[in-house]
Amino acid sequence: MSRLPSYYKCLAKQSRIAHLNAFISLADGASVISTTPDTHGSFSGKSIAIKDNICTSDLPTTAGSGILKDFISPYDATVVRRLQDAGAVIMGKTNMDEFGMGSHSMHSYFGPVKQLGRGEEGISAGGSSGGSAVAVKSGYCDVALGTDTGGSVRLPAAYTGIVGFKPSYGLLSRWGVIAYANSLDTVGILANSVDMVRQTFNLLNKYDPQDPTSLVPSTRSRLRTPKSAETPLRIGIPLEYNVSTLKPAIRDAWICALRLLQSKGHTLHSVSLPATRHALSAYYILAPAEASSNLAKYDGVRYGSRAEGIDGTPQSVLFAKTRGEGFGPEVRRRILLGTFSLSAQAIDNYFIQAQKIRRLVQQDFDNAFSAPNPLVSSTSPSVSNSSGVDVLLCPTAPTLPQLISNIENQDSVSETMSDVFTVPASLAGLPAISIPISIREDHNDPDLSKAGVEQTAGMQIIGQYGDDRLVLDVASQLE
Ligand code: GLN
Repeated sequence: MSRLPSYYKCLAKQSRIAHLNAFISLADGASVISTTPDTHGSFSGKSIAIKDNICTSDLPTTAGSGILKDFISPYDATVVRRLQDAGAVIMGKTNMDEFGMGSHSMHSYFGPVKQLGRGEEGISAGGSSGGSAVAVKSGYCDVALGTDTGGSVRLPAAYTGIVGFKPSYGLLSRWGVIAYANSLDTVGILANSVDMVRQTFNLLNKYDPQDPTSLVPSTRSRLRTPKSAETPLRIGIPLEYNVSTLKPAIRDAWICALRLLQSKGHTLHSVSLPATRHALSAYYILAPAEASSNLAKYDGVRYGSRAEGIDGTPQSVLFAKTRGEGFGPEVRRRILLGTFSLSAQAIDNYFIQAQKIRRLVQQDFDNAFSAPNPLVSSTSPSVSNSSGVDVLLCPTAPTLPQLISNIENQDSVSETMSDVFTVPASLAGLPAISIPISIREDHNDPDLSKAGVEQTAGMQIIGQYGDDRLVLDVASQLE
């Protein structure tokens, strides 16, 4: 008997996961079933969910925003087209923080995403790709695409106990991905296993001439063939990540993961990344600055739904009303912040300083790794720093997911603290994966136990630019 394609099983779950609010739009069952995917494609019959800031021509693309609530893209993003060409079936578009701005998927025009749980109270799914993470975790799809600007794939993966991978910046095409902060935006992959993530990465890791930031073939050919994780590796432990606010359950899981790698024959080395403590502040200057410029086009004339009843008013009123009504409070806050830090009186003290910190963060990583950075180094890839490490292992987030009711009362600065461990790799454009590690029972969190959520801590493996395969291989050893 032939096996049913996975999307049949997924469709059966549709009504059971509706309360989690993971999707903004769903492909209708009849059209999914009538799709006869290319049976020879490497992704034939695989079910995929796509974050709603990645353009699809069949379903709307809203980026979780009121200003794009009626937008249907005339074309598919390159990553979507590549998946469809390989036979994948798009199941729906996933809910997210508006334009990717947030860490708990609670700043969506379409309401918050909840993580699977038995209790009355919802648990944060992480953000901003929370809908994609919940779609995978609840078995609604084999793989989901997200975007990761400062941690938005890794944090939801850590909170929901799945695998989330942010590849090196520029490897996966951003053509058709709605920009938040171009110099940081990366398409990321969420799945239940490293192997599924690897297959998706291999399919999508190709040059795209339509994306000006796509890594060109000549540079791709300069990327070294990474070491094999079968040989003994030097694993770095970044000391600055051992902060006093790190939850004991997570520190304990970190130690377990390090011991596991040691038992596979790898050696452990402490590493210092001193600029890490400034990375979060630098990120929250740079990302809003880029966002304020990217979001200027949503004015109700060129892009975006226009506010009602204002035709014929002066253009400044039309812009102000459209943008005031169309954007949610978090996006408005970031636009104001970004516009301020780029203004003539503030640029030297904020934007320029943050750029300098970004450079220091990149240099810290380059000093830590044995392999030179192929984008900045003129040294041959065979010349390596023998006291450096091959990959770094650290937690993805300092805390476990929290009850949504607790987060609702949080201010936006506390929300940013969840990103403290993910933004450094984003600022440096490095490959990083979050992988779930079980938490010892005596460290279980009572709120999560009550909600029936499986208790894991996300561990992050970070590699040198272009060492994506090594990062994936080390992650497999922790599965
Ligand atoms: N939480 C971070 C922010 O709000 C990261 C978001 C992301 O990676 N898209 O900017």
